[in-house]
Amino acid sequence: MVHIVGAGPGAPDLITVRGKDLLDRADVIIYAGSLVNPALLESRKAQCQVYDSAKMTLEEVIAVMEAAELEGKTTVRLHTGDPCIYGAIREQMDELEERGIPYDVCPGVSSFCGAASALKMEYTLPDVTQSVIITRMAGRTPVPERESIASFAAHGATMVIFLSAGMLDELSRELIKGGYFPDTPAAIVYKATWAEEKTVICTVESLSASAGRENIRKTALILVGNAVAQSSYERSRLYDPVFTTEYRKGTGEEG
Ligand code: SAH
Repeated sequence: MVHIVGAGPGAPDLITVRGKDLLDRADVIIYAGSLVNPALLESRKAQCQVYDSAKMTLEEVIAVMEAAELEGKTTVRLHTGDPCIYGAIREQMDELEERGIPYDVCPGVSSFCGAASALKMEYTLPDVTQSVIITRMAGRTPVPERESIASFAAHGATMVIFLSAGMLDELSRELIKGGYFPDTPAAIVYKATWAEEKTVICTVESLSASAGRENIRKTALILVGNAVAQSSYERSRLYDPVFTTEYRKGTGEEG
């Protein structure tokens, strides 16, 4: 059996209880060494074999899983954050299905949640925005034209931009082209929840200069939108004394 497990954003105690349990019982661990905190491997079984997928191809990863399966071993494929976001898990799952190797997926705390907690921020502020757009700049993996940064910027929603810390001049240009003002609040969160975590509050226009000052080139998320400023929002209806909800009788006429 192969368990695809989300490692969380970095801090070793931000893996799920289930994920930690699977990891501690695994006979084989294949982990994404470029982003997963190696501290997570410390409590593995003594005989556990460990592979760093940063140095492997898909074919090599599958070959390790297949060999483990033939020996009746349990494999954990450990991905950073949550595996469903830029995790390249579909191609692995398809190969496993083709070989009849059973697998499941254990979710993790994505770095976009770790970044919000680093900033003590709520992405969905009433009267500011109720949506979060998770996207990236095109890199070696292309992004469909209809999903350009500029087209998403036109919504004015909170944007969380992955895999783009090395392209900040172009990112700013695209955001402004799409309709964000140059002084729209933005943030850079480097290695959210790691000991080396850095947070920088800036503006859409000053992303590149701010990252340059802090020497941030990778392992960072870019957050954009008025929600980053965390000001001038409406309070929620859910906790408003006037409103009646399914669980609580309110004082007002409105229900
Ligand atoms: N599945 C992961 C994302 C993998 S893509 C998740 O759910 O978080 C890798 C990109 O994620 C990095 O380039 C960076 O943009 C972002 N990232 C991953 N971990 C991060 C962290 N701790 N802090 C900030 N950004 C992070």
